[in-house]
Amino acid sequence: MLLPSAAVPSVCCYCGVGCGVLVKPEKNGDVSVVGNPDYPVNRGALCSKGLNLHYTVNDRSDRLLYPQMRYSKSRPLQRVSWDEALARTAAVFKTFIAQHGPESVAFYASGQCLTEEYYVLNKLMKGFIGSNNLDTNSRLCMSSAVVGYKMALGEDSVPVCYDDIELADCLLVTGANPAWCHPILWRRVEAHKAANPDTKIIVVDPRVTDTCALADVHLQLIPGTDVVLNQALARALIENGDIDLSFIEQHADGFEEYQRLVFERTVAEAAQLCGVPETDIRLAARYIGAAKGFVSMWTMGLNQSVVGVDKNLSLLNLHLITGQIGKPGAGPLSLTGQPNAMGGREVGGLSNLLPAHRNLANPAHRAEVQQFWGSGPLADKPGFTATEMFEALEDGRLKAIWILCTNPLTSLPNVRQAEAALAKAKFVVVQDISNKPETLAYADVVLPAAAWAEKEGTMTNSERRISYLPRVVAAPGEALPDAEIICRFAQAMGFAGFDYASPEAIYQEHTRLTAGTTLDISGLNYSILRELGSVQWPYRAGQTAPGTPRLFTDQQFYTPSGRAMIHPVAAVFRSEVPDEAFPFILTTGRIRDQWHTMTKTGKVSKLKQHLPQAFLELHPQDAAALAVEEGDLVTVESRRGSVRVAARLSSGIRSGVVFLPMHWGKQLGSDLHRANNVTSGAVDPISKEPDFKFCAVQLTKYRKP
Ligand code: SF4
Repeated sequence: MLLPSAAVPSVCCYCGVGCGVLVKPEKNGDVSVVGNPDYPVNRGALCSKGLNLHYTVNDRSDRLLYPQMRYSKSRPLQRVSWDEALARTAAVFKTFIAQHGPESVAFYASGQCLTEEYYVLNKLMKGFIGSNNLDTNSRLCMSSAVVGYKMALGEDSVPVCYDDIELADCLLVTGANPAWCHPILWRRVEAHKAANPDTKIIVVDPRVTDTCALADVHLQLIPGTDVVLNQALARALIENGDIDLSFIEQHADGFEEYQRLVFERTVAEAAQLCGVPETDIRLAARYIGAAKGFVSMWTMGLNQSVVGVDKNLSLLNLHLITGQIGKPGAGPLSLTGQPNAMGGREVGGLSNLLPAHRNLANPAHRAEVQQFWGSGPLADKPGFTATEMFEALEDGRLKAIWILCTNPLTSLPNVRQAEAALAKAKFVVVQDISNKPETLAYADVVLPAAAWAEKEGTMTNSERRISYLPRVVAAPGEALPDAEIICRFAQAMGFAGFDYASPEAIYQEHTRLTAGTTLDISGLNYSILRELGSVQWPYRAGQTAPGTPRLFTDQQFYTPSGRAMIHPVAAVFRSEVPDEAFPFILTTGRIRDQWHTMTKTGKVSKLKQHLPQAFLELHPQDAAALAVEEGDLVTVESRRGSVRVAARLSSGIRSGVVFLPMHWGKQLGSDLHRANNVTSGAVDPISKEPDFKFCAVQLTKYRKP
């Protein structure tokens, strides 16, 4: 395939905002990257991470260049050919499958994978290997939102588009800090507010973040009380007569039971439980009630919780009781941390999903996919989720794991347990672009992958916008595109149906499989994507409009009855309870200029300037009680492990709550800064998303021995 000689449109590979870029190949083999002025998401603007994207491509000093293998756990990795690496891996997988069944092997992938990569992985695992043991790090990010949408709206469907931001006159930002984590989207909110000062911004967060600078009201709640707060907002809306009874009667079920539930607690009682003034809750409810268009935005603060699904449902309920959905400027907008979490959802790339929103529990759906793939029967039992995979490695149910495009030994909760599990694994394959991930120390086989701009494919951003990403430069050494690696492995396993001529051929198969479903993109192909620049699904065969910006405009939801479901979720507390031994609540999160586990952004010196090292944010009162001053080293200890980081005092965090950034792993040779040494492995019972935002810790000032 010929490489372009001039700048070509692509999409930023960091967060789910999905900004358009122009990538230009330079004469020396490097690329330059600028914002794409014609791309509707960002109109040329890029945040600090996007502006430095080219450094991560051009600095190849950390790249894996050729396949490696070790012949026993005690021997070092040594260079081998692709054929040797894939043949050995196929032989080991076949042996485990023959001896222990298809559930004994697993793939752990990533929301950074392109849709084509996701598609072939899903087809290989679910169709041909015969178990559903394919999960991704998206499980750690948005699986609670997926379940929430499905339960309330019938399917995993983000109803709105980014243009709804400019059409809304009230925005609720809850459990998110988009000013740092989704900056270009936030710039649109800032511009909208500047042009329309009457637009009301409500921010819900236990910390005062940069996002709060725009807030008309900041509800600084106690971590874990989101459901109580959302129910209090609902009660105030009902009391004020600010609900849409006509919408509820015609389009939603469950309101009576829900109303009974939210009236079990007064707004004053809820305010006390949440630790926020009742007047502020009532003010926020008045803003929502008065809005012609109400949009909510959220990420990890709601999703990463043992009650993540309940938190999502309690938020979606606010839209359903006010009828603020399916019309311009109204609806829920879940933001994703990864660039193609949505593409993964489209192909069914989690261990409990099937392609195109088909239902794993439905025998007809399984048969439909089996027939399309020409595969064996699909297993009806969900596979291991992200955290379950590592539990299964530890107790021996899982023998082999193939980890691609993700860095679980920094990103998983209770990560020391995951480390111990990986040490026990019989066989580990690591497929990555970088020689940084800690997983490499445990790998029996290492496979070098092509990076962003070195391979072609598609991604879908948080507003269902699909874009084509071209290959602009050659991959270094023997690195191959992830989809090609998976297809070559599938063929080494002896499976038919993986001899695609190109990524486009994979995409065409994927789009055909969506025909007749709610996310039907059977009318889409690479040519249309190149011509239109991007398209929002659905995009059916014969469609002429450039995609579908908004869902449910006919108020017909994807439930069997066509009516949305208002779920009366009770506010329960399932997180680890702080006590005398571990009295503080720890919440983890992101900083402005780093992304995930820093394997890419950590290479860019400019991005280290903002916050160069890990830290513990704590309230000055708590610091004083511990005799801790700014910059002092503090040991943060939980029942699972500890970290030692410098204190950053901030009156913007609640007393009794502390914050650790999640990005640092073992970059400095030790795991002293790795937040997930401390976090809890507890997960939401339905979404299986971990409780990264809540665990009990103890703090002590570190004194050199
Ligand atoms: Fe990239 Fe997200 Fe920044 Fe846009 S907002 S440039 S997608 S990191």
